[in-house]
Amino acid sequence: MRGLMMDQPLLISSILKFAARNHVEGEIVSRTVEGPIHRYRYPEWAARSARLANALLGLGVNQGDRIGTLAWNGYRHLELYYGVSGLGAVCHTINPRLFPNQISYIINHADDRWLFTDLSFVPVLEAIADQLTGVKGFVMMTDSAHMPATSLPNVICYEDLLAAESDQIEWPVFDENTASSLCYTSGTTGHPKGVLYSHRSTVLHSYGICLPDSMGLSSSECMLPVVPMFHVNAWGTAYGAPMVGSKLVLPGPRMDGESLQALIEDESVTVAAGVPTIWAALLNHLESSGKRVDSLKRTIIGGSSCPESMIRTFQDRYGVRVLHAWGMTETSPIGVVNTPKLFADTLSEEQRFALGCKQGRGLFGIEMKITDDDDRALPWDGIAMGKLKVRGPWVCSGYYQLDQSSAHQEPGWFETGDVGSIDPHGYLQITDRTKDLIKSGGEWISSIELENIAVGHPDVVEAAAIAARDDRWGERPILIVVKTEGSPLTEAALLAYYEDKVAKWQIPNAVVFCEELPHTATGKLSKLTLREKYEGILETPKG
Ligand code: AMP
Repeated sequence: MRGLMMDQPLLISSILKFAARNHVEGEIVSRTVEGPIHRYRYPEWAARSARLANALLGLGVNQGDRIGTLAWNGYRHLELYYGVSGLGAVCHTINPRLFPNQISYIINHADDRWLFTDLSFVPVLEAIADQLTGVKGFVMMTDSAHMPATSLPNVICYEDLLAAESDQIEWPVFDENTASSLCYTSGTTGHPKGVLYSHRSTVLHSYGICLPDSMGLSSSECMLPVVPMFHVNAWGTAYGAPMVGSKLVLPGPRMDGESLQALIEDESVTVAAGVPTIWAALLNHLESSGKRVDSLKRTIIGGSSCPESMIRTFQDRYGVRVLHAWGMTETSPIGVVNTPKLFADTLSEEQRFALGCKQGRGLFGIEMKITDDDDRALPWDGIAMGKLKVRGPWVCSGYYQLDQSSAHQEPGWFETGDVGSIDPHGYLQITDRTKDLIKSGGEWISSIELENIAVGHPDVVEAAAIAARDDRWGERPILIVVKTEGSPLTEAALLAYYEDKVAKWQIPNAVVFCEELPHTATGKLSKLTLREKYEGILETPKG
């Protein structure tokens, strides 16, 4: 028997319509590439998104067409999120930090029809324009006064495009499983792979991130997504905030510590989200300037493991609660968020802190399991460590135009490539990426754990632990470290720092000090580059 409830599809345009009607006072504040702060409210954003959609129709955009964006977090990008997807076309956000050949590959692979770009990325596009096969033209996300001189063909000014259109539109209604946006994830090997989100997955994920045991977005919050809109939809905040009417503060191109502190203070930001590198820069600035972020109640940190020392500093020195979170491009991205349960009140302060350092616990919508090498499910005892697999309505079932994916070998599950344990209360702790684990004499060593300890040392700015080949043990950990300027820290002193923190056999064999560590386009440590350079460091020369 079928239920007798209305069969209304979950569409992204419904978030926009709801926000325009119900959150009339909700502000969207953006730092612009052109310089000044721009501010308007949800109704104006909705009206301009409608103008954009009408303009896209005028440009011949059809349902299913891919429209590429190279843009920072800003109001025009937010208009594209809704104007493009609202029509049933696909908003393809492109990470401008990728290598130029990767950018041209994904634009061609996605077969983007039009590219919308912030002024910052015009040179990136100029360098690859002759390789782009299906692109009809380029829209500069600015007004006529700031139009650049460019060698790009078929260039249109965003504001001129909108000015010529009506702000009235009847948003089309279609199947909620229609594709809405596309984001490529760059593995360390092979071509980037496209994750194709749907309206249904996006709307359900938005509900998920607004839950109080998740990011807890609400109309009484002011949200600052530092995590970019060009990667995994700014962790869904670009949909969640309008859904509940949070004030939204978009940092544009300026994500350094000083600019973020000023924005947080000026706009009274209460909740923020970003990767550890961003917050390390903010904390450094607070430390050196003596400034504060008193309005900030909590920050969601994920994308890489958040070091314990960062959680402590935020909490103890600035009164900011850190919600550690784990997710992936393939999981929209929120998989788990670390919020306390009632039982945490009965724990000692140390135990509570240790629990808060784990990646977090599942939301309804994400089912998890950990398995051994024979794909047998392992117990949730907080000890057994296995391959993490997930499934749910906002987890990808395959990659865009890719027939085979090793991550989907077990039907109905997505293998994350991460290894971890889950405790009886459902808290996940990520040990490592499978390929970053260090296997020494048959035992696994977590590179994340070694890195977290290193950055807890006051003289260490950043650290990477990688496996180096070793004649006797197969692999042994070594540390590559950036230390604070002028620090006298020595290899022996740093290794001694590990002595009461890990078992003796887990202590790295060597420390290499360097000026800078390599990062991927999404800001993670590029272990592949480091392994290529240092993996032979412990080997005895043959011959
Ligand atoms: P991406 O798809 O680029 O967002 O990268 C997803 C990967 O980032 C995951 O598979 C993890 O390896 C890593 N990751 C994300 N969040 C965390 C976290 N809180 N702790 C450790 N690793 C994380």
